Amino acid sequence: MKVTMILGDGIGPEISQSAMDIIDATDAGIEWEIVNAGEGVYEETGELIPDSVYESLERNKVALKAPLTTPIGTGFRSVNVALRKKYDLYANIRPVKKIGKIDSLFDDIDLVLFRENTEDLYAGVEKKISDDEMHSIKIITRPASERICRQAFEFAKENDRKNVTVVTKANIMKLTDGLFLEVAREVAAEYPEIEFKEVLVDNMAMQLVIYPNQYDVIVTENLYGDILSDLMAGLIGGLGLVPGANIGKDMAIFEAVHGTAPDIAGQDKANPTALLLSGCLMLDHLNKREEADRIRQALEVVYSNPQNFTGDLGGNASTSEFTQAVIAQLKNN
Ligand code: NAD
Repeated sequence: MKVTMILGDGIGPEISQSAMDIIDATDAGIEWEIVNAGEGVYEETGELIPDSVYESLERNKVALKAPLTTPIGTGFRSVNVALRKKYDLYANIRPVKKIGKIDSLFDDIDLVLFRENTEDLYAGVEKKISDDEMHSIKIITRPASERICRQAFEFAKENDRKNVTVVTKANIMKLTDGLFLEVAREVAAEYPEIEFKEVLVDNMAMQLVIYPNQYDVIVTENLYGDILSDLMAGLIGGLGLVPGANIGKDMAIFEAVHGTAPDIAGQDKANPTALLLSGCLMLDHLNKREEADRIRQALEVVYSNPQNFTGDLGGNASTSEFTQAVIAQLKNN
């Protein structure tokens, strides 16, 4: 089965190699079509996303993508946002789950955030009124709100999750967030078996650091989702551990939540777990759940020994040592 692999900038090539090596060790039958985009390619070719990347994505419809840098002055606000918009990858799904013995504030975190990926303040409708006044327009539509809320409830139903929480600031933004909340309530009514909660975003930020176990599936708009997912990453040990899926009607791109980590690039220090777990979400999507679960189980074992921890988790293991530990564990199973 052929998938597109975008190697990325900064730590991208190192963590991509690690994820590919580990996934290959499960014999999942993935054939990687390796392409590149971002700063490195821009410096060589003057193009941030070469046609070969679009062609590969459109051919394979499924991609694993390492983080990309958007150089200033290229006409793109963000190459990552551009890809999500071009292919209407409307659902950004971020599962946050405690792994092994990684030090974290709580023992049993298992949350899944559904973030609307195409509108809100990210729509990029900004206007200069004067040197001293700038406006940014928040866009919320019924169809986009409905499809993300439905996806969250469908996920909850299929995976026996106990509740879905919609997060807004509808008490202040009565029209935009009011619409998102109204649509969430309508969708919730179609799933009476799933408990539905409504929480304001400021309260949610506090709830998640005090009572995260009261929550399960969370659905929200683009900006709140961006901020809350980083907060949730902090609950389980940081950005190096949280995967993401960008799902549209016709395409799915899987990527870590973190960026290119230029401070540790090229030093064999990066933690490849977030990209690897994004690869597991990709395997789930390709109906290769067994292989994905084998990797998740291997990670549980590898992360029970702090000798395997990379620098971001307070350990000394290199990216390659960590990779070999996971592959060795897969072979033991
Ligand atoms: P970052 O996530 O790259 O780094 C933040 C901190 O976390 C750094 O100290 C870094 O070393 C650490 N870190 C991140 N991932 C790690 C990993 N896998 N292992 C170990 N440590 C890790 O965020 P930033 O510094 O704000 O952004 C750097 C660049 O990444 C920017 O150019 C930004 O535009 C880009 N970016 C890209 C994406 C994407 O491609 N989806 C997402 C976010 C940021």
